[in-house]
Amino acid sequence: MAIYVYNTLTRRKEEFKPREPGKVSIYVCGVTPYNFCHVGNARPYLVWDVIRRYFAYKGYSVRYIQNFTDVDDKIINKAKEEGVSALAVADRYIKEYFADMDALGIQRADVYPRVTDHIPDIIRVVEALVKSGHAYVLGGDVYYSVESFPEYGKLSGRSLDELKAGARIEVNEEKRHPMDFALWKAAKEGEPAWDSPWGPGRPGWHIECSVMALKYLGEGFDFHGGGSDLIFPHHENEIAQSEAYAGTAFARYWVHNGFVNMGGEKMAKSVGNVVRVRDILAEFPGAALRYYMLSTHYRSPIDFRLEDMPAAQRGWERLKLLEENLARALDGREAAAPAESSEAQAFLARLEGFKNSFEAAMDDDFNTAQALAVLFELARELNAYLAQGGINGERAYVLSQGRDLFLKLGGVLGLTGIKEGGRENAELIDGLLDLVVELRQEARKRKDFAAADRVRDRLAELGVILEDTPQGTRWRFAPRG
Ligand SMILES: [Zn+2]
Repeated sequence: MAIYVYNTLTRRKEEFKPREPGKVSIYVCGVTPYNFCHVGNARPYLVWDVIRRYFAYKGYSVRYIQNFTDVDDKIINKAKEEGVSALAVADRYIKEYFADMDALGIQRADVYPRVTDHIPDIIRVVEALVKSGHAYVLGGDVYYSVESFPEYGKLSGRSLDELKAGARIEVNEEKRHPMDFALWKAAKEGEPAWDSPWGPGRPGWHIECSVMALKYLGEGFDFHGGGSDLIFPHHENEIAQSEAYAGTAFARYWVHNGFVNMGGEKMAKSVGNVVRVRDILAEFPGAALRYYMLSTHYRSPIDFRLEDMPAAQRGWERLKLLEENLARALDGREAAAPAESSEAQAFLARLEGFKNSFEAAMDDDFNTAQALAVLFELARELNAYLAQGGINGERAYVLSQGRDLFLKLGGVLGLTGIKEGGRENAELIDGLLDLVVELRQEARKRKDFAAADRVRDRLAELGVILEDTPQGTRWRFAPRG
């Protein structure tokens, strides 16, 4: 069965056709690491975790890229407040981000490109845009000229005239059009800056995603995702930059998730109605929050209420209990394939029905709420079968088929097969790596470079990369694949 996806660009559900057969390429806008994630921040990553799991379930090979905006006003301000470097702030909250996402069972991206690691790539694209007349230099800034791209507004469905009428009084009145946006910003005193053909500065926000998506996925990749607040201007600008630069379509399917609201307003740090993922995890298992969020279709808003979390936890625990009971019931049993036309055959046919209903729900624009309902029907059926007892070889066969399906479908939603202690493990790994880096620093101070090199090489074998920078040594996980 084909998968149908609501594409923001065309404003309708479309049959998904991959760029390359059997492969899916996905780019999702990542966080600006300057604070802990709240529930609203986490939603896109949870939504995409399920989407990519579903594609893997369908047999696709998935390539998933998610960036970190690790240089930004918010990070710089926080660094100034604390008297530390912007890099230190970003590094800290990237680690916290991973701790939260691991606890939610969110699979890691194939690459997490960081802006500060891609400055030369960004400069190259900005230069090309200036050269082709899509961008212009003003002082030490470079602006994208929205009028140079006739299709500007196609994603958000707005026209330049409308936008101009609604534009606020601009800081920089020399811009050619009020909607022109910065590709490169001249450095201000005390800010991180990089050399460029336009003098020292740093990239504007939008350009990074264009550059990284094209670098890691190429032109015309399959999915671009993010919260619906990113449609304008961020994603509109990404399209304008990328398509002007490459001369071809950028992403083919634009998928946007709804807001998480609380008390009738969008959850946002600026509003102050935030619940941090960390605070939820202190009281509930990560899977309970997953269950809560997946009970709503990804395009619909969620009205988050902390009071509803215990019910979500009980819902997930029913699934967990069944998983445990199935394991216990099947432990050490010999299964025997059932005879034709037996009662067992009828049950196996019903299992097929659950599988089809689950897939029909997910094929229809990733309807996790419906898929979850099917998973519960399957659970009810399996519970009833278990309750009958008398597990002989034939019944063991039927039950193990049922369990395989239950775990497979539950695994798509990330609600079964969960290994306990993900959060604790992530924190332990972080702590241990910090310790190893510290011990290596001491070896270097003692001029024991053989030991320091051995640590670096062994960590590299384990997929951890060390970088010695003027601010100290940083570690990060090597990208997979
Ligand atoms: Zn982005």
